[in-house]
Formats: sequence, C-alpha cells, structure tokens
Amino acid sequence: MNSLIVVIAEHADGQIRPITYELVACARRLQRLQPADIRIVVLSDPVETLAETLSQKTGLPVDAIRVPHLTGYHGDVYRSVLAKFLKDLQPRYVCTAHTSQGLDFAPGLAIRLGAACITGVEAVTEINGDICFTRRICGGKLVADMVTDHPQRVLSILPGSFSADASEAVEPGAVFCKTATSTTPVRSISRGILRSSVKASGIMEADVIVAAGRGVGDKDNLELIFRMAALFSGSAVAGSRIVCDMGWLDYAQQVGVTGFTVQPSLYIACGISGAIQHVSGMRASGFIVAINSDPNAAIFNVSDVCIVEDMLTFIPLFIETAQHQ
Ligand SMILES: Cc1cc2nc3c(=O)[nH]c(=O)nc-3n(C[C@H](O)[C@H](O)[C@H](O)COP(=O)(O)OP(=O)(O)OC[C@H]3O[C@@H](n4cnc5c(N)ncnc54)[C@H](O)[C@@H]3O)c2cc1C
Repeated sequence: MNSLIVVIAEHADGQIRPITYELVACARRLQRLQPADIRIVVLSDPVETLAETLSQKTGLPVDAIRVPHLTGYHGDVYRSVLAKFLKDLQPRYVCTAHTSQGLDFAPGLAIRLGAACITGVEAVTEINGDICFTRRICGGKLVADMVTDHPQRVLSILPGSFSADASEAVEPGAVFCKTATSTTPVRSISRGILRSSVKASGIMEADVIVAAGRGVGDKDNLELIFRMAALFSGSAVAGSRIVCDMGWLDYAQQVGVTGFTVQPSLYIACGISGAIQHVSGMRASGFIVAINSDPNAAIFNVSDVCIVEDMLTFIPLFIETAQHQ
C-alpha cells in the first residue's frame, strides 16, 4: 500500500462541485495525521478544463482521465475505470463525497479494490495511535469512532464536515492526462439529469429559521411555527422532508441533503428528530435551539440549547411571553 491519498473529484454541468474542495480539506487532515501524498482524480469527456481548475485551485497533482462519451456521471463506468486505475496506484485512502454520486459508486469501488468502506465520515482524529473516522449511527442518536486495521480505506465524506480552503494555490499542480474505458459491461444507460424546478423560498437568505418536523402533529399546528417566526425579523419557516412530503410545507422549504443547505444565525428546530439527512443541511447554522419531547432526540447532539418539552405547550407560552416584553 502506498502512502497516498486519492480524492475523487465530483462535477456536474462542466463545473467542479464545492464538495470536492471539502474532500481535499479532509485529505489534508489525514495527511497531517499520517504523512502521505495527495492526488486528485477526475473522470469526464472532455476533462482538461476540469483538471486545470482543480490543479490551479488546490496546487495538487491531478490525474485527468478522459473516458470517451462520459459527459456526466455514470456509476458502472466510475466503478470500473476507478477500480482499474486505483489498483495500480494502491492508495491508502480514497476520499469520495457522501452525496448521491459518491454513495452510488464508493461501496462498489471498495469491493472491487478489496478495501474497507466507511461512509458518512464527519471527522478524522487520532486516538491512541489509531486513525478514527467519526460517523453517526442509530439514526443520528449516537456518534461512533470507527477504526479499521484494513490497509486500504474508501471513505465517503459528509458535506459540510471539512472546511474547504478559500484561497487559490500559489503554484498549480501537475496535470497527467490519460484515456480509459470501462472494462466491465455497462448495465445502465444515463438519460441525463432532470433538475427540480423548486427554488428555495427565502430560507437561504433568512437570518432566523424556525423549522417544523413531524412533531408538529397536524398541519393546522403550523400556525404556531409561523407565529413564532414572526417574532424575529429576517425570519423564514422551513421543514423536515416528512413535513414537505405530507404537503404541509412546500419543497422549497425543505432543509437537508435532498432539500436546501442553510446557514442562518439562529435555527429553531421544532419537533425534528435530527436524522443525519436533515442535520447535514442545517448544522452550519450559527446557533441552534431544539424543542423536542424526547430527551434522547438526536437533534440535541448538534444543539446549543436543548428544550425537552411538548412544542405545543412550549411555543404558545414562548410567544405569549415574548409579546408581553
Ligand atoms: C435518501 C434520503 C434523503 C433524505 N433527505 C432528507 C432531507 O433532505 N431533509 C430531511 O429533513 N429529511 C430527509 N430524509 C428523511 C430523514 O431520514 C428523516 O426521516 C426525517 O428528517 C425525519 O423528519 P422529522 O424529524 O420531522 O420526523 P421524525 O423523525 O418522525 O421526528 C419527529 C420528532 O418530533 C418529536 N416530537 C413528537 N411530538 C412532539 C411534540 N409534541 N413536541 C416536541 N417534539 C415532538 C419526536 O420526539 C421526534 O424526535 C431523507 C431520507 C433519505 C433516506
């Protein structure tokens, strides 16, 4: 196994996705704990412009693999081409994004490489000489530090976990161009990506977000959430996916991996359990308050203030108190 960390770049519509630079930040964190070289691998056709962008932004060497006719993402092709390429390189770590793309190919890639696969990594630490990968388990209620003695590890990194370096590299990295094709039969045909027409309804700009979860109990109770939000200037109402799936709120208000990622100064989560798919969309908020009747709710793990109470009791009292001040 080589002292090498490989970052698999994610891109769409001819642009490098910001998560790629978070993967580089994760790779640099690993490098500080266990000295190693870092390289970025990018697959596409054409691939040169993407590779140039990566080398200029990060200063790292980039393997630009042109896969004829691969304009977007294709799981079968990624698994096949990357497995062949990485078998030659033998990196210790392969960093992928914990996104719909990364999660689609990372486990299969790990199987082809015979490597360990740890998904949803939020932090990397060293404990008693072991490199530990922190991830949530049991629906986000518990946090586990995972260790593996397998020499090769494929990681999927949760978006928002590592801060990308905002500055541009002083010197661009070298770009190595190659051409490769899938060596295994392609079992699916990509028909392209259909973009949702949903646009965030003010939650991206809001300074304060009051978010409703299934704990709100009934669509009529949402009135309490709107009244609470009205107490704050620059506020907006958001919701968990379940609340949007039930049609209580619009998808333009959904926070989470399949919704919007928000970063208000204050996020008030009302009756939200704190599933990782929701938390990854709001954890970067400045100050988080959660109201939940379950003292063990996972949302409390990321909250600055934890209110263990029935929200239908707490919120009316809160509104009344605020209005009399
Ligand atoms: C691929 C995938 C993508 C997903 N994407 C998203 C996403 O983008 N965003 C998202 O939110 N979810 C997403 N989910 C769903 C996610 O896993 C959870 O199911 C969802 O977030 C749970 O919503 P919730 O917290 O509102 O409901 P629940 O998990 O049902 O939690 C309700 C909470 O309310 C509390 N409660 C109940 N009554 C009261 C009361 N009276 N007062 C106070 N507290 C009360 C309960 O204790 C509980 O903690 C996704 C799931 C998958 C598989």
